[in-house]
Amino acid sequence: MLSKYEVVIGLEVHAQLTTDTKIFCNCSTTFGNEPNSQTCPVCLGLPGALPVLNKKVVEYAIRTGLATECTIAPRSIFARKNYFYPDLPKGYQISQFELPICEHGRLDIETDDGSKTIGITRIHMEEDAGKLLHGNEAGSRVDLNRACTPLMEIVSEPDMRSSDEAIAYLKKLHQIVVYLGVCDGNLEEGSFRCDANVSIRPWGQKEFGTRAELKNINSFRFIKQAIDYEIERQADILEEGGRVVQETRLFDTASGTTRSMRGKEEAHDYRYFPDPDLVPLLVSEEWIERARRELPELPAAKIERFVEEYDIPRYDAEVLAAERAIADYYDALVKLHGNGKLCSNWVMGEVQRALNDNGLEINDCPVTPQLLAGMLKRIDDNTISGKIAKKVFDAMWKSGKDADTIIEEQGLKQVTDLSAIEPLVDEVLAANPGQVAEYRGGKEKLLGFFVGQIMKASKGKANPATLNELLKKKLAGE
Ligand SMILES: [Zn+2]
Repeated sequence: MLSKYEVVIGLEVHAQLTTDTKIFCNCSTTFGNEPNSQTCPVCLGLPGALPVLNKKVVEYAIRTGLATECTIAPRSIFARKNYFYPDLPKGYQISQFELPICEHGRLDIETDDGSKTIGITRIHMEEDAGKLLHGNEAGSRVDLNRACTPLMEIVSEPDMRSSDEAIAYLKKLHQIVVYLGVCDGNLEEGSFRCDANVSIRPWGQKEFGTRAELKNINSFRFIKQAIDYEIERQADILEEGGRVVQETRLFDTASGTTRSMRGKEEAHDYRYFPDPDLVPLLVSEEWIERARRELPELPAAKIERFVEEYDIPRYDAEVLAAERAIADYYDALVKLHGNGKLCSNWVMGEVQRALNDNGLEINDCPVTPQLLAGMLKRIDDNTISGKIAKKVFDAMWKSGKDADTIIEEQGLKQVTDLSAIEPLVDEVLAANPGQVAEYRGGKEKLLGFFVGQIMKASKGKANPATLNELLKKKLAGE
């Protein structure tokens, strides 16, 4: 049934910017402090208080615009969006309406059918509202610490045709704002929130169907669920000969369904007009060019460089570049060690595992690129085997000591000396005459069994290459 309809999705993302202070005053943006401890006449909306634009907010918006190939407007305007709600003391939100700072951008996503370009209609700056705290003994209260916190609204064209494409776009955008350092990307705390406009239309129809707007969903998984539910709901209505109504709908995480919040009739007329307290924002060509020069290397470019320069598979490069901090760690490691693939194996393997086990982020990793590179060099020069290296790694993690100290202290130096390994080989072969006979009878898979036994006897210290060579000779009866 679904295949009768084409799905059309456009997304609006609100990204909270990581500036230290608010968009129009000096108050701190730190999260989680005593309610109303971070307020002043401006963000409390007291009469006569005048807003002053935070330059860093503009800088961050420009950066995001450049990273998504937008045109940066030399002149943009702040407007008042008028509505009444208790968390908005001024009675209006300062936003950008007719002349936003960025327009006409694009983002390329990967789909099953290859690369696809999603248009970005606009990016504008605005202030957040406060927060209502319900359920107190004295009734509901309002915390204005969040009032005037800087937001960037990123609006896409209705270019996505499935929930998968929507998620691919969101993840890409999320990755970019985090890479740029303009947003911490925390979905749960609401620093990166998404509204989805979803409609369907019979294939071939030019006009868009009537859309529903799904509000403020705080995880990628829920966004996908909400969109998929909405597509089916609308298809059911059309199948029964009904008409989809334009409305705002809320996603209910418990039931996985959406429900109506308000219809078009109740939609606000915001009576936008230019804010007379704020002069037009002028952005010079020099400013834009400087911002362009200072842009960090973005994920797509990083992936290409990792593949080219470090000679690693594209898969590895994509995993490593997914998060900027991990990419930086890997970059530092390869620069110290040199072998791209060995380094990517360790970062994607042991480092990632240990971080997960300990609930840590890469920035808190106790094994620095310097420590890890020092240890990998001991694998290269055969001082330790890859297996013992894991033991050394764990010890570095716990103690912060370097590999050489740990190898010395714990006597982990690999045994390459034939005269030390030979007795162990003889011992194991003598203890397993049955297996020896089977091996010689053609069951060569047993080699692994012998290697395991001898390794165990050497406490993992026998050099695998030396051991293998010797073992094969002995088994061949040489
Ligand atoms: Zn303030």
